[in-house]
Amino acid sequence: MGPIAYKVVIADHPKTVSPVELQERVAEVLENVNQLMSTYQPDSDVSRFNRSKSVEFQPVDPKTAAVVARSIEISKQTEGAFDITVGPAVNLWDFGPTKSGFKIPSDAQMDAVKALIGYQYLEVQIEPPAIRKLVAGIQIDLSAIAKGYAVDQVAATLDQIGCGNFLVEVGGEVLARGERFAGGKWRIGVERPNDAGITLASVAEISNEAMATSGDYRNFFEFKGRRYSHTINPQTCRPVDHTLASACIIFKDCMTADALATAMMVMGRNKGTKLCEKLDANYLFVERETDFGDQLTEFTSNGFPLFKTPEPPVTLTIVQQILPVFIGAALIFGLVILSMSVGAIFAKKPITGSCGGLANQTNADGETTCGICSKPTTDCIEDAT
Ligand code: ADP
Ligand code: MG
Repeated sequence: MGPIAYKVVIADHPKTVSPVELQERVAEVLENVNQLMSTYQPDSDVSRFNRSKSVEFQPVDPKTAAVVARSIEISKQTEGAFDITVGPAVNLWDFGPTKSGFKIPSDAQMDAVKALIGYQYLEVQIEPPAIRKLVAGIQIDLSAIAKGYAVDQVAATLDQIGCGNFLVEVGGEVLARGERFAGGKWRIGVERPNDAGITLASVAEISNEAMATSGDYRNFFEFKGRRYSHTINPQTCRPVDHTLASACIIFKDCMTADALATAMMVMGRNKGTKLCEKLDANYLFVERETDFGDQLTEFTSNGFPLFKTPEPPVTLTIVQQILPVFIGAALIFGLVILSMSVGAIFAKKPITGSCGGLANQTNADGETTCGICSKPTTDCIEDAT
C-alpha cells in the first residue's frame, strides 16, 4: 500500500506488557498485512495473483482470502460501486504503484481495461484459503479496504493483550476502543476537503466503533482545470465525476467502514445515503459546488455523533442580575397585601385604622352602608349619621 503513516494511542495497558513490546506487536501486525496485500510489494499475495494468468485457484494466506471474500460481499451490497478488480483502471489513470505521468487514456485503452473489470470474475475459497480469476487478465487492488482491515487486526491484538482503552489509526482510518485519557469518548477530527491546508470540518465522538474517510482532495491530478481523483467508477473506468468531496463513514468494523467510504465516493450522496440507512451506517458527506470551489456543504445522518464545543457561560449585565430580585420582592409584597385583603373580604373582619372615607358611603335611601370599621371615631359616627 506504499508508505502509510500510522498511530496507536493506548490510554492504559496491562503492566505485564512493556510499551516497547506493544510497539513491536503493533508493527508486526501491520507489516504482515502489508506483506500480504500491498501492490507495492512484488512478493505479496496480491502481486503474485495479479501477475498470474492462471484461472485455477491459487493458495493465499487466510487473511487475504478473508479480505477478498468481504470485498465481494461489499461489491454486491454497493451494486459494484466498490470493486477490487478496478486495479487495471487505477493503473491506467496513473494512480497505481507504477507511475508514468498523468494523461487522459484513449477510448481504446479504456475499452481494453473495461473487459478486465468485474468482481463477478473473482472467486474465493476459505478452506483451504485460495482465490481464482475467471478471466486471465483480472487483477485485484485491496488499497480501499486493507487499511481498514489492518486497523481491525491491530485492535484485535490490543484486545487480546488486555488493553481496554485505545485508538488505532492507519492512513486516516480509525478504530476507538473504550475511553480517552481524560475520560469520555474519543474525539476524531474530520478534515475539511480543501487544498489550502488541513482544517477540520467537524469532530466526531466515538467509542467501540470505527471511522473511515475517502475524499477527492489528497490524491488527485489537476488537468485543464479539472480534478481527476483516485476513486474509479468501475462502470465507466473513469475517475468519479460528481460533487461529493469526501465521505466519512462510522461503522462497527474498520474494514467495512473503509470500503463503504470509497463506495460512497462512487455512488454519490443520494444513492449513498439510502445505502447507509439500509446498513445502519452513520455518514458525514461534504459536497463542493465546483471542482476547485471553496463552497462546501456538510450532510450528516441523524445518528452521526458530532462533538459540539460546550457553550461558554453567559455573563449577565447588572440590570439582568437585579431584575429577578426586584420582581421577586414585588411579588412578595403583592402576596402580603392580597392575603391581608382576604381577611377583610371573606371573614368580613372590620378594618382597624383609617377607612379612607368609606364611612361616608350611603345607599339609595340615604342610609350609611359602611359596616367594616371596628372602632369608628366620634367624627366618623357623626359623619355617618
Ligand atoms: P484513501 O487511500 O485516501 O483512504 P480509499 O480508501 O478510497 O482512499 O482508497 C482509494 C484506492 O482504492 C485507490 O487509490 C485505488 O487503488 C482503489 N480504488 C479506486 N476506486 C475503487 C473502487 N471503486 N473500488 C475499490 N477500490 C478502488
Ligand atoms: Mg477506503
